[in-house]
Amino acid sequence: MESLNRSDEPLYDVAIIGLGPAGLTLSHILGRRGLKVIVIEKEPVFYGNARAVYTDDECLRIFQAAGVADDVHKDMMFDIPVQFTYEDGTPIGQYIPTGTPNGWPIVNFLYQPYLETKLSEKLGKYDHVKILRGREFRSLTQDEEGVTVYHIASEGTGYGQKQENPKPKEEEDERSIRASFVVGCDGGRSKVREFLNVKLKGKNFPEPWLVVDLRQKNLELGLRHLPYFNFYCDPNGPVVSCPQPDGHHRFEFRLKTGTSKEYMERPDTIRKLLSKHVNPDHFEIKRRLVYTFNGLVADRWKEGRVLLAGDAAHMTPQFMGQGMSSGIRDAFNLGWKLIEVIHGRAGERLLETYQTERYFHAKEMIQISTILKDVVSLENKFLAAMRDGFLRAVRLIPSVYKIFQEGKFKPKPKYKQGKYFGIPRNSSNRHAGTLMPQPDLQIMDGTNRKMDQIAGDSYALIGQGIDPRKGLSEKSLSFLNSLGTKYITIYEKGKRPQGIRGVVRDFDPGLNEVEDIYSLLKPWFKEAGYKKNGVVLLRPDKFVFGMAKSNSNKLVEELERQLDRRPVHRAAQVRSFVQV
Ligand SMILES: Cc1cc2nc3c(=O)[nH]c(=O)nc-3n(C[C@H](O)[C@H](O)[C@H](O)COP(=O)(O)OP(=O)(O)OC[C@H]3O[C@@H](n4cnc5c(N)ncnc54)[C@H](O)[C@@H]3O)c2cc1C
Repeated sequence: MESLNRSDEPLYDVAIIGLGPAGLTLSHILGRRGLKVIVIEKEPVFYGNARAVYTDDECLRIFQAAGVADDVHKDMMFDIPVQFTYEDGTPIGQYIPTGTPNGWPIVNFLYQPYLETKLSEKLGKYDHVKILRGREFRSLTQDEEGVTVYHIASEGTGYGQKQENPKPKEEEDERSIRASFVVGCDGGRSKVREFLNVKLKGKNFPEPWLVVDLRQKNLELGLRHLPYFNFYCDPNGPVVSCPQPDGHHRFEFRLKTGTSKEYMERPDTIRKLLSKHVNPDHFEIKRRLVYTFNGLVADRWKEGRVLLAGDAAHMTPQFMGQGMSSGIRDAFNLGWKLIEVIHGRAGERLLETYQTERYFHAKEMIQISTILKDVVSLENKFLAAMRDGFLRAVRLIPSVYKIFQEGKFKPKPKYKQGKYFGIPRNSSNRHAGTLMPQPDLQIMDGTNRKMDQIAGDSYALIGQGIDPRKGLSEKSLSFLNSLGTKYITIYEKGKRPQGIRGVVRDFDPGLNEVEDIYSLLKPWFKEAGYKKNGVVLLRPDKFVFGMAKSNSNKLVEELERQLDRRPVHRAAQVRSFVQV
């Protein structure tokens, strides 16, 4: 732990307030690329609160970019069906996604303290990422060059387990640090957001839910009848049952409005509720908590050099398991942009696209989660019977059931037209602003790599069976080189160059030649209207900047224009933000 005061003030690239999942992911993304980062976390000791239980393939792909995916995925259960069931557990409909479009399983159940502990431990490898625990954000000032953050000593709240105890002024021990940018990842009650006077818009849902986290006393006993994730659609009170790794299990009970918190948290009440589903004697109760939830989004995510991410920027009802996942997406979207701006490869205006890209996606996740909550929680017996009948009918129509089974109702990683960094979507640019799939690709030695391992951390120019540098002017090529762009040729399965006539025999070290052995990219190119010779310019976060036929000079010119490296007039920038 490092202690800093105003007379000993190094300039950090980024100061992160809060070390929950969003702050941890951002620290990894920035730390991995060598940025000097300081994290201010109010809890003196890591304890970890079990809240999130689920994450998806897009987030694991982000963890892959952060260099921690294999480590965190070891602690997850994956490819587990998610079902709607009757109150006795008989399935009505199952969500069993197939395929791995992002190179990772779509359904992953986790135990949040394990995830956070792993992420926290792995941060230790970065000497340039400093963590100040037991320090709480107090206030900040910002100017044209950076931000000064004032922080005070904190005893923490045991991650919400105990009341906050405001300190008398003389015990506050106020200190400061200075950074070029500050990111508030300090959760739903964000003090950074409050300080910036940013308002939340949306809804609070008053219905109380009781969360009970259990752990099996003996891994063999008590859960054989509950192998999958269940939404019990019980009009008398819906219940969520969630398998978790290492003998953990979560139940969530929707309470009747008006039931007191004290009554619900009583051991005999909990025992009675649990007894309907498991033998309580086989379990240790790790935590019980009554909570309500929110569907809220901050109206501004950036104020000058200060940005908000994770629950500080949006709060999502937990039904789709997307609250933490949205924060992980924020961290990557913002992280690569901060890296490019701080290294001088992009103008500061790039940061304005953080909110415009992430805002609508986060909001869509809130909307779909709220719909799911409403579907699961129907109390009216007639409406509940209609829902069950509808789900049964859907099972009889395979093409429609597939939409449900494969989760096609989930908002896609696709930015809103006109609001993203990239070429506007049109007939020759159908995939612009969307996340490119990540198949396994085969390199020349016959082994496979995930696509992002080949595409690297920066931009990538990918040719469909052609050298993507073909036809590029020297100016375009040198601009792409200055960004650290990787060049890749993806051959269709069985279509590598071969034969003794006219085929160059030696590798060009500047080009990565790979084969789409599972033919997963062919339909993706075809969908965009490219049978061959397509070129894709990928952003560092693997979203498509733009596409072209053979010659990509125009793409590069547009990239250079949008990166806008001209110095900005900072005074104007400090208070500017994008309205959405
Ligand atoms: C019952 C429940 C179930 C959920 N299930 C899921 C799920 O399955 N999947 C999913 O994706 N999401 C789920 N969520 C949501 C998920 O837990 C949150 O979205 C996620 O934890 C938010 O991460 P964060 O890093 O933004 O904020 P937090 O996890 O809240 O972390 C904020 C950090 O900032 C610190 N901090 C706060 N104030 C200050 C300050 N002033 N100074 C310094 N540090 C400060 C805190 O101590 C904390 O460490 C669930 C939530 C609940 C309640």
